[in-house]
Amino acid sequence: MESSLMEELGFNEGAWRFGSFVLILATMVILEALMPRRARRHSRIRRWVTNFGILLSSYATIAIVMLVLTTLAAPITALLAAIYAKQWGVGVFNWLGWPIWLEWVLAFIILDFVIWGQHWATHKIPVLWRLHRVHHSDHDLDASSAIRFHPLEIVLSIFIKAAAVIIIGAPAVLVVIFEGVVNGTALFNHANLKLPLWLDRVVRPFLVTPDMHRVHHSIEEGETNSNYGFALSIWDRIFGTYIDQPALGHDKMIIGLKEHQNDGPQQFVWSMIFPFRNIKTSDKKPIEAKSQSDQ
Ligand SMILES: [Zn+2]
Repeated sequence: MESSLMEELGFNEGAWRFGSFVLILATMVILEALMPRRARRHSRIRRWVTNFGILLSSYATIAIVMLVLTTLAAPITALLAAIYAKQWGVGVFNWLGWPIWLEWVLAFIILDFVIWGQHWATHKIPVLWRLHRVHHSDHDLDASSAIRFHPLEIVLSIFIKAAAVIIIGAPAVLVVIFEGVVNGTALFNHANLKLPLWLDRVVRPFLVTPDMHRVHHSIEEGETNSNYGFALSIWDRIFGTYIDQPALGHDKMIIGLKEHQNDGPQQFVWSMIFPFRNIKTSDKKPIEAKSQSDQ
């Protein structure tokens, strides 16, 4: 499969994807060390073991799903979907024959809107929130939070992206670039990074910055349900879900889920079974006990 992909694209997509991931992750880790935004609540090593464990279990799950579905010849990754759509002659762009630059620009904007919409839906539909709250349960934010998605949510997003690519008829190379940009911006906007304020202001009208996305990881529900963007920051302004800064400020705001301020989210097994736990029987006690003793 890799050799036919190389023929289609003219480069090794797997190597490009892995290389850019490692490069951007390493860059963010170095920048986080040089200019950290917030003091950490937990040691890096514990959270990283858990967050990378979740990433590896996602790969294992994808491998199993691929194995099952490739026997049915289903184009389940976004890139394969683009190649199949072209071969089959399906998808809007494959019918219209517009200039390639216009296809690239429109496909990028539409795909970014699709993942914004998917993210919005994971906050609004209870069964999807069960999966997505694994990502939100992290008590600190850094580049490793960008890989902390439950394997079932990763598989779901692969299907949604592949469906969008087929409907659009998005060009294969653009899909590779889009995925690279979205993965890169996710590593960037989850980073515990203190960007100079002027730079945040310059970038934020177009791209989601760390300070903009951090608001989304607040334990305050109103703030959690805002700033859904990953790459382009325009959708939250258009749909009225944009919040400029956290009410308590970036240093005082609490990150995570209000009812899960216990040690669970730092543990791999807890994180993996979290979607299947009853929301009502969650770990409310620590934070309630704390707020009562404060009064
Ligand atoms: Zn979210």
